Amino acid sequence: QRAEWAKLRNVPTVTKDGKQVELAANIGTPADVANVLLNGGEAVGLFRTEYLYMGRASTPSEKEQFTAYKAVLERMEGKPVVVRTLDIGGDKELPYLELPKEMNPFLGFRAIRLCLERQDIFRTQLRALLRASIYGNLRIMFPMIATLGEFRQAKTVLLEEKTKLAAEGIQVSGEIELGIMVEIPSTAVLSDLFAKEVDFFSIGTNDLIQYTMASDRMNERVAYLYQPYNPSILRLVKMVIDAAHAEGKWVGMCGEMAGDPTAIPLLVGLGLDEFSMSASSILPARSQISKLSTEEMRKLAAKALACGTAEEVIALVQRMNM
Ligand code: PEP
Ligand code: MG
Repeated sequence: QRAEWAKLRNVPTVTKDGKQVELAANIGTPADVANVLLNGGEAVGLFRTEYLYMGRASTPSEKEQFTAYKAVLERMEGKPVVVRTLDIGGDKELPYLELPKEMNPFLGFRAIRLCLERQDIFRTQLRALLRASIYGNLRIMFPMIATLGEFRQAKTVLLEEKTKLAAEGIQVSGEIELGIMVEIPSTAVLSDLFAKEVDFFSIGTNDLIQYTMASDRMNERVAYLYQPYNPSILRLVKMVIDAAHAEGKWVGMCGEMAGDPTAIPLLVGLGLDEFSMSASSILPARSQISKLSTEEMRKLAAKALACGTAEEVIALVQRMNM
């Protein structure tokens, strides 16, 4: 099996019947890039930038961030890199921000909500990203978008910083795609309207599942409700993919589900364009996808969407594998 995977390192990801998809990696630091390339990653689908802000006494400077983003872009040698802007809050705390304790941190002041209020922090990150953009193929992604208003506001801030940099005579790439994470049900439901304004979506199933099922992703006692294969999740994923494709936009997934061998046949059937996962899952996923037919997976996905329970969906996929 390992020998087969090794052969797949430098080839595109294509289904049995010729449909190409992109297999990307989730990373947390510039040092992770080596492993992405070693495992045949075609892109970075999610660069979680939180590490830059954690384990220190204050926010990182523009220069420090610029250096990190430039390093990732350069090491990826022109391959796409989706950088997610700061997603702090929820389970990830920053002591130096001195935020009050909340009753429901996962429903609270985090990610884009915090960035739109603490624009000093947000603007510094955006400037660093814009300055780094000329060193590779940068895509910027906002986390935890719940409303069109939030997206428009964040985009306005980004464009303001771009204009300021131009006025300072600093070069910025003209080809930066701008997307959002779809990890809140309200955004999945309105995805047809979001699709007119974004360049791409990346579905964050880790949070989308917890918010759809109202099941805290850290709470063992309600873990039985954290169901990636619940048909409601699959229907939301389908809505998002169909909405994007109707506007000619692409859709990725960067939650754990994207690298899950049970989910992959369904996601291929639903038409997902990009799968972003831990680097070690890429070659096994490429091997699996090369053996699937999109036509058959479309039929499988249609059956799964009509199921009533997660157990029925899992049984459906397992039957196909026998
Ligand atoms: C997600 O929510 O699926 C995701 C990829 O983001 P994180 O796990 O960092 O919340
Ligand atoms: Mg998330």
